[in-house]
This record gives sequence, C-alpha cells and structure tokens, in this order.
Amino acid sequence: MPGLFQAEGIVLKSRDYQETDQLLTILTRTHGKLEAIVKGVRKPRSSLRSGTQQLCRSRFLFYAGKSLATVTQCEVQEIYGPLRQDLKRLAYAYYLVEIADGVVMPGQVNQAMYLLLQQGLEALGELEPALVARAFEARTLKLLGLAPRLEACALCQRELKGNGRVAIAPAAGGALCPECRGHQGREYLVSRGGVKTWQQLNRLNWSYLKRLQINPMLMGELGEVMPAFLEYYLDRRLRSRAFINEIGGDNIDGPGKNRPVAQAPGT
Ligand SMILES: [Zn+2]
Repeated sequence: MPGLFQAEGIVLKSRDYQETDQLLTILTRTHGKLEAIVKGVRKPRSSLRSGTQQLCRSRFLFYAGKSLATVTQCEVQEIYGPLRQDLKRLAYAYYLVEIADGVVMPGQVNQAMYLLLQQGLEALGELEPALVARAFEARTLKLLGLAPRLEACALCQRELKGNGRVAIAPAAGGALCPECRGHQGREYLVSRGGVKTWQQLNRLNWSYLKRLQINPMLMGELGEVMPAFLEYYLDRRLRSRAFINEIGGDNIDGPGKNRPVAQAPGT
C-alpha cells in the first residue's frame, strides 16, 4: 500500500541504478527484507550517501510506491567502522550478510535473523572473525530449526561410542553411526573436540564467546562442515566463502595472526 513508513534496517546489498541512483536490498527489523531505490545518492552532495552504504545500520524513512520502496530519509545508527578498515573482517561481514540475505525471503519479517546479523556484525569488530562466523552459522541453523543432531546418530538415534572422529552429513541433519554411513551424500569427519566446540557455539551467548579458547585445528574442521550445512539448506554455494579462502581468512594462524585472539580467562 503506498505511503510513508519508518524502519530500522541493515543494508545487505547495493547496486548502481540508472544515472545517479542506487538499488538497495535492506533487511529491516520490522518490515522484512525489501528492495528500495535511493534517488540521486551517487551525486557528491547527497545527504543519503553515508547511511545507505552496504553494511550500514540506519533508520530509514521509506515511501512505498506501487512496485518499489524509495528511501526518502535516513539516519545512520552504526557504520561498523572496524569492519571497513580490515579486509579480513570485511570479508566475513559480507559472508554474514550473504547468509542473512539467503535465509530471509523478500517481504518476510524475521526479527530474530535481524538481531543475529546486528550482533554478528558487532562481534566481528572485536573477536576472531572465523569464530564469529562459526557462532553465526550455529545460531542461524538453530533459528531455522536445523541445529544438527551431534550426540547420537541422526538416522537411527544410536549413541555414538568411542573417541574417534564423528562423520557428520548435512543431508542427514547431523552425525552418522558406522552402520548408517555412506548413503547420505558428503560426510565430514569431525573430532570429538570439534563436536564439543559446535555444541558450545550453540549454547554460548556473544559475550561468553570472548572467553572461548580457540583451537585452530578444531576451528578448521568446523570451518568446513558448518558452512556446508548452510549451503545444503540454501541449495547454493555461499560466494563470499571463496573470497574468505582467497585471503586465508579461515586459517586462524594465517594473515590475522597478529591480532589478539580470544583466550580463555587466565591464559
Ligand atoms: Zn545410525
């Protein structure tokens, strides 16, 4: 219905449109995911310029036209400065945004996903990016009702015995016992420590994540299997992962090694 409405939102995507306009995909807190035009925003003096950049969280005033909404005013709430000054953090920010964009359908209101994205972008400014990505994936899967079965076989419910690595298959929705393996598409072998870390990521809130001891090997295992779960659900590749891999992002001892990495208290 045509008319003005106000909403807070995070800019997921922006594309140039016509001479001086841009077309944005915005995940709003209260009005779902929507496409909106920003008229004249590419002119140097446009007052809408800062608040409509990709990754900005802003308060928007929209005019709902017959087909598309138009941004008529916007006030920046958060530009996530630390993410824009660090290529690795920025790459992960695009990754979180791509997941949120894939999970929320156009017009669908999903406040939980909105808040998760907001918290994820905030956490990316201070925590190890790969850890934030894994926590974000765990929470997204939970929101979707797809938190994997990890303590028992997802197919036959049999308890997983021993201390060996656990086979986890996205198509099965979790771990597989030896008898059920081999028929559920791609399987990922994850150590018991990796499984435990995944369970912790399901439980811990963002402030506790700071205290989580990061084991690069376990994070490496989870960095394979957790995105695979989301890609299986979304039925497509997450393109920003290729960029993260290119810059060695998932490797905690890689280019980001000079930054402080979260440690358990007292270490
Ligand atoms: Zn089984």
